[in-house]
Amino acid sequence: MKSASATTAPNNLNRVFLGIGGNLGDRIGNLRRAVELIGLHIGRIEKVSSVYLSEPWGFTHAKYFTNIVAEIYTSFSVDEVLTKAFEIEAELKRTRSGRGYEGRTMDIDILFFNNEILNTERLVVPHPHICQRKFVLLPMAEIAADFVHPQNGKTMQQLAEICPDNGRIRKLSSM
Ligand code: ADP
Ligand code: MG
Repeated sequence: MKSASATTAPNNLNRVFLGIGGNLGDRIGNLRRAVELIGLHIGRIEKVSSVYLSEPWGFTHAKYFTNIVAEIYTSFSVDEVLTKAFEIEAELKRTRSGRGYEGRTMDIDILFFNNEILNTERLVVPHPHICQRKFVLLPMAEIAADFVHPQNGKTMQQLAEICPDNGRIRKLSSM
């Protein structure tokens, strides 16, 4: 039996892809810390993509974003994962300036949760903008090229190739 590209996680764990990014503060340090906290509080980190440096999507800002995608195996429900992701965001949004929060140091989105399709007030899964965003599709294609989007049947590799996003993006390094 082929096991190299399993489509489900073992032992009834949930297979989750998280999109992690930010454009303020110590961007790479924040990504490292986010991965560390995700490993501590959400589940086992299976894979982490390279870091992608990307032009802000949908708005103008002087600072580019650094983005990664991580594959996690977790026993938590999708709602619990979102709550924990919010807690990690809050932890990393804390700044030391004493002037309160300073914008978007960290955003953690649930891209996929198994092959599930959800649409509630709090959660839309798969994340609705995946197909338009190279900063999601390029790292997804890097770590899970054959993963199939449950709503359109296309693989991450295919979606990355046809994505109309023409914002600047560059692969920087591995974490
Ligand atoms: P952004 O859309 O830029 O990620 P926020 O991080 O501020 O904005 O999230 C706004 C809201 O999006 C959150 O309150 C959350 O409930 C909701 N949301 C819906 N679907 C998802 C998802 N798949 N992952 C993360 N947040 C989600
Ligand atoms: Mg978010």
